[in-house]
Amino acid sequence: MKRVLITGAAGFIGSHLCDRFIKEGYYVIGMDNLITGNLQNIEHLFALENFEFYHHDVSKFVHVPGELDYILHFASPASPIDYLKMPIQTLKVGSLGTHNLLGLAKSKKARLLIASTSEVYGDPLEHPQREEYWGNVNPIGPRGVYDEAKRFQEAITMAYHNYHGLETRIVRIFNTYGPRMRVNDGRVLPAFFSQAIRGEGLTVFGEGQQTRSFCYVDDLVEGIFRLLLSDYHLPVNLGNPSEITIMQFAQEILALVNNPKAHIIYEPLPIDDPKQRRPDITRAKEILQWEPRVDRAEGLKRTYEYFKQVVSL
Ligand code: UDP
Repeated sequence: MKRVLITGAAGFIGSHLCDRFIKEGYYVIGMDNLITGNLQNIEHLFALENFEFYHHDVSKFVHVPGELDYILHFASPASPIDYLKMPIQTLKVGSLGTHNLLGLAKSKKARLLIASTSEVYGDPLEHPQREEYWGNVNPIGPRGVYDEAKRFQEAITMAYHNYHGLETRIVRIFNTYGPRMRVNDGRVLPAFFSQAIRGEGLTVFGEGQQTRSFCYVDDLVEGIFRLLLSDYHLPVNLGNPSEITIMQFAQEILALVNNPKAHIIYEPLPIDDPKQRRPDITRAKEILQWEPRVDRAEGLKRTYEYFKQVVSL
């Protein structure tokens, strides 16, 4: 049985990865310090013989007994309000945490896949974003703690690959959504769903003309699984190229939830909020034969079922 360590296992994407690797017959070791993760996301796995969990902060030395074939590093605060609240932890998990996992991968002769992000492109001056684009990041702005940690993470991962010959994979994840997103993580989809369900104002920042492209989590997990097993070590964008404005997104959620009390209100645009974002997924199509399958109408329907259960009125 292949053994895989998943950091950030109790988080949104990490928990879906745990499910996928369990389904594929792997022995899964989940790790999380639970500062933004939630054990409820993986509680259904605790009874399984091929799952174990370590409550640990990967920014500190990481010890895992036994062999490891793969490591997936998905631990990090991941929403703008989380990294505003936890700037130092965000910097540490992307830098020190990644260094610890590179060391672990080297000693176990394991392959390491790191979760990078479309944030490495910052507020992009190229559209859509290809992997060759170097980005437009403000290092000292409020998002700098996340963006620069992830850029450092890519740099140190490539250094271990080039200098030590370590097997590494880098996925640049664009906006992703689905069940198990935290209701209060401040990101646009949990905010809009909870506001619509409660019959409150949907807080559109700025004039809502900024764009994003939203990928359903099952599609993302499929792409990550393929990338891990591929022989490609350069960064690969994964995301859904279907791009919309935040205003359109608010209207889609209003129409789906159909609560007559819900409406749109405006709040100031946060500092350094990227004006547009859409992945160029040519590389993923060619190398992984991957593209998203779940369109937004279907993905939002499935996600709404989840939020109906978890949003308290
Ligand atoms: N946004 C919004 N209202 C909210 C939360 C976010 O209008 O209540 C906007 C935000 O300004 C950004 C977009 O939605 O332009 C996506 O924000 P999110 O925090 O989900 O992630 P980002 O893609 O900015 O990292």
